[in-house]
Amino acid sequence: MVKLAQRIQKVKPSPTLAIDTKAKAMKAEGIDVVGFGAGEPDFDTPEHIKQAAIAALKAGKTKYTPVGGVNELKDAIIAKLKRDNNLSYTRDEVLVSCGGKHSLYNIAQVLLEAGDEAIIPAPYWVSYPDQVLLNDATPVIVETKEANGFKITPQELEKAITPKTKAFVLNSPSNPTGSAYSRKELEAIAEVLVAKNVLCISDEIYEKIVYEGFEFVSIASLNDKIKALTVTVNGASKVYSMTGWRMGYAAGPKEILAAMTKLQGQVTTNINSMTQWACVAALNESQDFLKEWVAEFQRRRDYIVKRFNAMPGIRCYNPQGAFYVFPNISTYLGKSAGGRKIETDSAFCEYLLEKHLVACVAGSGFGAPGYMRLSYATSMENIQKGLDRIEKALGDFQP
Ligand SMILES: *Cc1c(COP(=O)(O)O)cnc(C)c1O
Repeated sequence: MVKLAQRIQKVKPSPTLAIDTKAKAMKAEGIDVVGFGAGEPDFDTPEHIKQAAIAALKAGKTKYTPVGGVNELKDAIIAKLKRDNNLSYTRDEVLVSCGGKHSLYNIAQVLLEAGDEAIIPAPYWVSYPDQVLLNDATPVIVETKEANGFKITPQELEKAITPKTKAFVLNSPSNPTGSAYSRKELEAIAEVLVAKNVLCISDEIYEKIVYEGFEFVSIASLNDKIKALTVTVNGASKVYSMTGWRMGYAAGPKEILAAMTKLQGQVTTNINSMTQWACVAALNESQDFLKEWVAEFQRRRDYIVKRFNAMPGIRCYNPQGAFYVFPNISTYLGKSAGGRKIETDSAFCEYLLEKHLVACVAGSGFGAPGYMRLSYATSMENIQKGLDRIEKALGDFQP
């Protein structure tokens, strides 16, 4: 038997990828599953972005590039951060990595070590705690309240901070809840972080997917003190529907970004060169297509939230952004359905998949038992069909 390193034994496989894999396998067998597991937009990558990659390929831009990305891409990112987020950075304060996930991992590697704590509000994106664990540090999970829109309050944050606290992970809009922090809420969070000198890792990957004119704010843009403590993470996956291309970026204090670049130079080097040129086009050219995408997401959100809230015993938070809903299913747990007792959210989701062919992800994977996550990055037709099935499944439950 091979003896694997301790660090890999502390982490678990991504539960969101697991349910998606299972649903896809059932589909491949010809079973008519409605999948709400996907964490990616269902739109195609816009044509002008694809053309930029093809042009780069044909022009022979197929070799190693600087580790942190070609200057044209760094400049496009710098311009975007200025234009959209009112943030000023230089080339040595930016690093392009293989997806936002890789950016976050680089941050964790250069900041965290044994004895350090990182505060993560729950419900959280599945990779945050495991990336902290992979670096021998301790994730400190702070449960947020549904009544507070699943957002950590400044008091809750302050209470969780200890002398060991190194960083706080902020994700707005959030995966899995879709909830997003207002400017005022961010000001209060920033005040605590500055007072306690805690770094902020701000995952802004869903920045562009917000509804009803919600004002997205980058926490680093609030003032110079919080900017000096923040590493902002963003990427192409969600905003340009480019999940398979693998591009994410981080921007923040020079010291941290230099360390991340040094690390990446020993691990992956640059990201795919054609992807870089595609992303130059994505960032620099028109963003108009987004209006249509966001309008479509909002139409789906409105429908799905309304349907869930009309189902007996279900409460569904109305999210400000991203493309997920996170209904509370706790009143069904402990009841029986189809001759078995459903004790947990995982059992509930298994029941939905096996008996009613709907794939949702259990909330416990996000640190929030009693909930489940549905992605509405799927057609309205699928959404209707899937919700009809869930409604039918709820009818199976007996006290
Ligand atoms: C999708 C996602 C990411 C990053 O995805 P990449 O494809 O690696 O860029 C980061 N954070 C959250 C919360 C996400 O949902």
